[in-house]
Amino acid sequence: MTHRRRLVAGNWKMNGLRAHLGEIAAIDAEAARHPAVEVGLCVPATLIALAADRARHIFIGGQDCHFADSGAHTGCLCGGMLAEAGATVVIVGHSERRTHQRETDAEVASKAAGARKAGLRVILCVGESEAVRDAGDAEAVVAAQLLASLPQGAASDWLSIAYEPIWAIGTGRIPTLDAIQAMHAALRDALRGAIGADAEAVHILYGGSVTGDNAASIFALTDVDGGLVGGASLTAAKFGPIIAAAD
Ligand code: PEP
Repeated sequence: MTHRRRLVAGNWKMNGLRAHLGEIAAIDAEAARHPAVEVGLCVPATLIALAADRARHIFIGGQDCHFADSGAHTGCLCGGMLAEAGATVVIVGHSERRTHQRETDAEVASKAAGARKAGLRVILCVGESEAVRDAGDAEAVVAAQLLASLPQGAASDWLSIAYEPIWAIGTGRIPTLDAIQAMHAALRDALRGAIGADAEAVHILYGGSVTGDNAASIFALTDVDGGLVGGASLTAAKFGPIIAAAD
């Protein structure tokens, strides 16, 4: 059986100024105490270089990138820019971008491919709305979303998946543990169909209201390989116990 080293990534979203760099150092120190866990922070682009300068035990990532590697795209950043600033990872397809910036599956796949071309690892997000969950279609819908968002050449050495039910993000609500495991198993199954045996090595992270109180039970599930954490990644006091739960 493939051993997948647990991965815990924070998503700072549109939070973080220079004043918060001390928190990044404190999270780095927490990560140093758990070398078995891979820890990272996806920070606002304005903090990537500053955070990368301070990070010794964590990776620094971005939260989005354009699919092109340069061009007339005012306000956008390409993967190469994030990499030059010190990012080694980028999130693509977060539900907040799929909803507010109307990103499609095809765009998400292009962004992942562009990031890969720039040498970045990718965390590709998928997840269902509450209406889809209530209708009983969640696994089929999210597996289809994953396959439609999957870039060419997807492989475990550069691509991780984050399953984030939209209704669980920032709400304090999470699916049952059985539902999380069932979804992760369905996603791994879909990956097997798409990329074959390498699917066993792909990290499938859970995201949505992960806290120090629920992390251990979520991370113990067979097909959960860590987490993507929003609100609870903003301080070492909250993120530290989640990192510890992954150890
Ligand atoms: C997220 O938006 O990626 C996320 C998981 O948020 P939260 O942990 O705050 O629910």
